[in-house]
Amino acid sequence: MYMKKILITGGAGFLGSHLCRYLINVGHQIFCLDNFSTGSYNNIKNLLNHPRFSLVKHDITKEFHIDDPIDEIYNLASPASPIQYQIDPVKTLQTNVIGMNHVLELAKKKKARILQASTSEVYGDPMIHPQLEDYWGNVNPIGIRSCYDEGKRCAETLCFDYYRQYNVEIRVVRIFNTYGPFMSPNDGRVISNFIVQALSGKPITIYGDGLQTRSFCYVDDMILGMVAMMEKNELVGPVNIGNPTENTITEIAETIVSLTDSSSGIIYEKLPEDDPKKRMPDISLARMNLDWYPKISLQDGLNKTIAYFKHEDEKKNNAV
Ligand code: NAD
Ligand code: UDP
Repeated sequence: MYMKKILITGGAGFLGSHLCRYLINVGHQIFCLDNFSTGSYNNIKNLLNHPRFSLVKHDITKEFHIDDPIDEIYNLASPASPIQYQIDPVKTLQTNVIGMNHVLELAKKKKARILQASTSEVYGDPMIHPQLEDYWGNVNPIGIRSCYDEGKRCAETLCFDYYRQYNVEIRVVRIFNTYGPFMSPNDGRVISNFIVQALSGKPITIYGDGLQTRSFCYVDDMILGMVAMMEKNELVGPVNIGNPTENTITEIAETIVSLTDSSSGIIYEKLPEDDPKKRMPDISLARMNLDWYPKISLQDGLNKTIAYFKHEDEKKNNAV
């Protein structure tokens, strides 16, 4: 097998660290670039001494160069959780626009294929359901989620302009809500919040009435989908990658309480502004062209994620 040299921006984050491990395990050489704003050393600590792994501490909003040849780039650098991306919205937008531009320039110079980790958030609060790739979305351009939603939409635009204007080989995937081990316990996303709350016996915080829906994909399925898209010839995307099973947030809360055997009750808090009411991918394109669909059930995925958070808790308790 040809050993590819692969750059993963955002490689110390939740999805990025899984991608680093997966691509190292199949024999490639990895350059993991991260500014550690939401990622952590803990996520990649088992890779730091690996001979085919290099860490580049850098912020993509600043120009950069890599001396080695690069065959492929996965651009994952961006905060992903609403709480995290709203801490410094200007920086979030800069990461997705100025940062995207820098990463595309590198792809152009290196003649590397680049996969952009776009998001279901480009559909905003969708008026069609389930969401198909040809839907242009319903996004508030001036709301509190816009730094991320519009940033990611602009990142897609830049990708397609580099493709048409400079023949850069792009791949765009629209990732729907993904969960699993190595999510940060305090990044504020629903599954990590609920598991942390359930394991510590604290109230489960449902925002709004809990009837809003999302579709949750286990991380191992997601990584296979992303790699399949990178490796596919003659398909630039965008392609939805996610689990086409829809759940209300109340169902997620009840399932997690039951799987953890928790005594936690539920409290209702204010629904954040512009929180999408429903979301579920149509994955016909991925099924047809990538022969990809998620195989891990919500229950199995949640059990693996709960086991990870329990183990992390035990490590913390043993350390004190
Ligand atoms: P994450 O926050 O765990 O990882 C993002 C990583 O990018 C972190 O390691 C962070 O330190 C790094 N980063 C952020 N800004 C940077 C910058 N300016 N320069 C260099 N590094 C920077 O989030 P994640 O869930 O792993 O998401 C990874 C990517 O996938 C993101 O682009 C996100 O938008 C996209 N995505 C994720 C999901 C999901 O459900 N996890 C859904 C849709 C899209
Ligand atoms: N949510 C919730 N309680 C939490 C965290 C999130 O009820 O502690 C809700 C949130 O309002 C949204 C859904 O769960 O409706 C998914 O939120 P998340 O931040 O994980 O992802 P996104 O909104 O970006 O899809």
